[in-house]
Amino acid sequence: MSQMTALSVESFAAGQWLSPGAEAASVYSAIDGSLVAKAGGQSLDFQAMLDYARGVGGPALRALTFHDRARILKALALYLGKQKDQLYELSYLTGATKADSWIDIDGGIGTVFVFASKGRREMPDQKVYLDGDIEQLSREGSFLGQHICTPLLGAAVQINAFNFPVWGMLEKFAPAFLAGVPSIVKPATATGYVAEACVKLMLKSGLLPEGSIQLISGRTGDLLDRLGPQDVLSFTGSADTALMLRSHPGLLKKSVRFMAEQDSLNASILGPDAEPGTPEFELFIKEARKEITTKAGQKCTAIRRMIVPQEHVAAVSDALVAQFAKVKIGDPRLETTRMGALASQAQRRDVAEKAQIIEQYARCVYGDGPLVVDGADGEAGAFLAPKLFLCDDPDASSLVHETEAFGPVSTIMGYRDVGHACELANRGGGSLVASLMTHDPAVARQVALGSAAWHGRLYINDRDSMKEATGHGSPLPHMIHGGPGRAGGGEELGGIRGVKHFMQRTAVQGSPDMLSAIGGVWVKGAREQQLGAHPFTKTFESLEIGETIWTEPRTVTLEDIEHFATFTGDTFYAHMDETAAAANPFFPGRVAHGYLLLSFAAGLFVEPNPGPVLANTGLNDLAFQKPVSPGDSIKVRLVVKRKTKRNDEYGEVRWDVTLYNQDGEQVADYELLTMVAY
Ligand code: NAP
Repeated sequence: MSQMTALSVESFAAGQWLSPGAEAASVYSAIDGSLVAKAGGQSLDFQAMLDYARGVGGPALRALTFHDRARILKALALYLGKQKDQLYELSYLTGATKADSWIDIDGGIGTVFVFASKGRREMPDQKVYLDGDIEQLSREGSFLGQHICTPLLGAAVQINAFNFPVWGMLEKFAPAFLAGVPSIVKPATATGYVAEACVKLMLKSGLLPEGSIQLISGRTGDLLDRLGPQDVLSFTGSADTALMLRSHPGLLKKSVRFMAEQDSLNASILGPDAEPGTPEFELFIKEARKEITTKAGQKCTAIRRMIVPQEHVAAVSDALVAQFAKVKIGDPRLETTRMGALASQAQRRDVAEKAQIIEQYARCVYGDGPLVVDGADGEAGAFLAPKLFLCDDPDASSLVHETEAFGPVSTIMGYRDVGHACELANRGGGSLVASLMTHDPAVARQVALGSAAWHGRLYINDRDSMKEATGHGSPLPHMIHGGPGRAGGGEELGGIRGVKHFMQRTAVQGSPDMLSAIGGVWVKGAREQQLGAHPFTKTFESLEIGETIWTEPRTVTLEDIEHFATFTGDTFYAHMDETAAAANPFFPGRVAHGYLLLSFAAGLFVEPNPGPVLANTGLNDLAFQKPVSPGDSIKVRLVVKRKTKRNDEYGEVRWDVTLYNQDGEQVADYELLTMVAY
């Protein structure tokens, strides 16, 4: 490492790459302490960066639909996947093993994939996201309400922690991008060279609209003073930095949206049923060993406190000590290494100090012996052995619940009963994740009710889920990441929830026509367009939102009902027995089957010849509102409600289908899904 030329970690501001300045910080290898990089120190024009994001990146992104942006994210993830080897090479210098880097690099790319896929599946091919259903605000339906989300018109400033330079960046960038908001990324200086290499790749891909991303390598100067109400500041890092940022007067004055993911004293609970010898006990030990040693414990979600039945404290301690004795610490590039180094000497000092605090209230049962490091100098590199503490009286001490040693350090503590276990878990003051190893659903329920409010995520694992469970420490893009109190009170990821953090939700009120025009979805009561040709004869492109046909009426006879009943076997008394049906509060006497009405509706509106409609793929929100008696007639209104491109050949058309009786009363409605060729 010592022969390596130090990297120049640049910033990318207003379309320009800028080299480190005279005041650049020196960054050292976690493995041997040699100089790895010079970062930051240039004088950045933060106003110009914001202007560029707001004036160039924002408009370019907002010109696209959610689907356009999702397609770009998918292409970007594929591109990064092909180029990732160079990121792995750099990542070793941070002390990370290949397995650690997989979480960071492949985990980051995987997160982009998930947002790309969710963007296509769960968001419309539109520029406005509809949040929830139409609210009926008037008796006649001429005045309605709809919540919509539109992208904020500012910049998403993202300040990240040192431990996951790629994942930490991409898990914020992807949802902001999907929302249509440009990012200004500020990685932690200690590992920012990996993030910088990733940003270089992202720009080199040529996939991103101009201004979508900028990079600050180094300090943020007066950037925060310049943020306004349309900007978002999302932060991951320590509680101290978060406190300083969240109390910044400029941010408070302008109500700048602020999200924090900060440190967390995550707990893992061993269920009372999970005695030594059970699969859940083994699972507990395995997950604890993994969480304490992966990334050398530098994971915001790592297990810091192990809460176990008092009678099993010794068994847990013995099992973990045996596990740690097998963990090979060393140069992260060695295949035999199971635990690499901490990110820096400063980090090692900080962890050692925090461990000393914990040691005042807990006995050290592992980690006091001499440090054995394979293939590297244990002192020149930032290596540290796992440290295991045992706290005999967890009720007495607050500090074991409050002190985060951001390294391979964890404390075992005993509980009396499940209520006590919850109490101890909750003393972390709010955490990102708590886990529970139990095979007893009643214990799971008790812990959820007693503890979920204190944790952003509750991970329950047992013999049934263990083969596929994703791990205590893995935040997944589908599920929210963040937690109350000590964990920062923020919330990221969680699928489309994470995208909404970068959008403004607005309650729009108006007539059905206004809401249809804004959302691009036909709303009941909006203008119907009768354009002559049967809509099933029209291609996807030529169908218009609001295009409508009304069918001829069809009379439903008793013979039809009996025929349908015997044909399908559905001889429910409401269709077959006049007296019994009349005694039922819902029916005047014998009535038509709902499914018969659906079938008749299809028979009334389909166009039988081959045409652009390829398939009926489903039906949503079916409601039968009024019974149809023998002798009644029904007719159907079919309206093009929503169109979504699916691939190069066809798109999905959703139809609003409403059935009326001879008196014009609505008897049923539903949303019909079809695939229609271009
Ligand atoms: P940190 O010291 O708080 O730094 C976090 C980020 O804030 C870095 O990019 C840092 O930049 C920046 N920063 C520091 N002072 C700033 C200021 N005055 N203005 C603007 N930015 C500033 O935390 P860390 O040591 O990198 O990370 C470790 C902590 O993060 C641990 O406590 C861990 O629990 C927490 N963490 C939480 C999560 C989560 O998702 N909840 C994830 C990972 C880590 P410089 O590096 O240039 O100083």
